[in-house]
Amino acid sequence: MKSIHCNGVEVEVIRSKRRKTLSLAIRDGEVQLRIPARLPMQQAEYFVQQKSGWIQQKLAAHPPVAPKQFVNGERLLYLGIPYQLAVYPSQPGRKVTLIDKRFCVEHRGRQASEVALKKQITDWYKQQAQSWLAERCELLARQTGFKPGTIEVKTYRARWGSCTLSGKIQLNWKLIMAPAKIIDYVIIHELCHLRQHNHSPAFWRLVEQFDPDFTQHRAWLKINGQQLQL
Ligand SMILES: [Zn+2]
Repeated sequence: MKSIHCNGVEVEVIRSKRRKTLSLAIRDGEVQLRIPARLPMQQAEYFVQQKSGWIQQKLAAHPPVAPKQFVNGERLLYLGIPYQLAVYPSQPGRKVTLIDKRFCVEHRGRQASEVALKKQITDWYKQQAQSWLAERCELLARQTGFKPGTIEVKTYRARWGSCTLSGKIQLNWKLIMAPAKIIDYVIIHELCHLRQHNHSPAFWRLVEQFDPDFTQHRAWLKINGQQLQL
């Protein structure tokens, strides 16, 4: 993969046959430049130089979040509360418990690998998300009067939820790391899509009716959303 360096920042260059223009984007703290397949590299470099102010500004607003290493003492979030990871060897060793700000993971064998711990912890989060999100969804559906079809908890890379035209609501399990009121906002947002399948002013008025602080909650997700990951 080609890359361009600009003021200490690495910009990944992605060529595409269909592309006619250049476009810069920042994903998960990484800068990507998409360019037409045959564009000379100097032109790409010139473009990046021109945009260096914009890149610095965007990176400062969204510092990259380092992926978890699953080592003792590492910070893990659950319902917006930070816990410190503590791994214990044990038999049969599949239990996860939250005690006194500690995220205790019982792991089989003496040395738990990063991959095994990540899987165990992810599975645990998904289980918690399944029950928490389903329960809140049911309660908020009653409060709002909107009746969703099925509710599905799944993995999304870059979104928190969705609502299909047929009324199916899908929620990202990573929401379980966010504070409860933020989770409720996302559920209310998706429930309101059952009536308004768009982001029109009418839609936001509806959201506000059930979550008067929705602008704060939406801003919280924009700023902190990238912390909600393993
Ligand atoms: Zn929406």
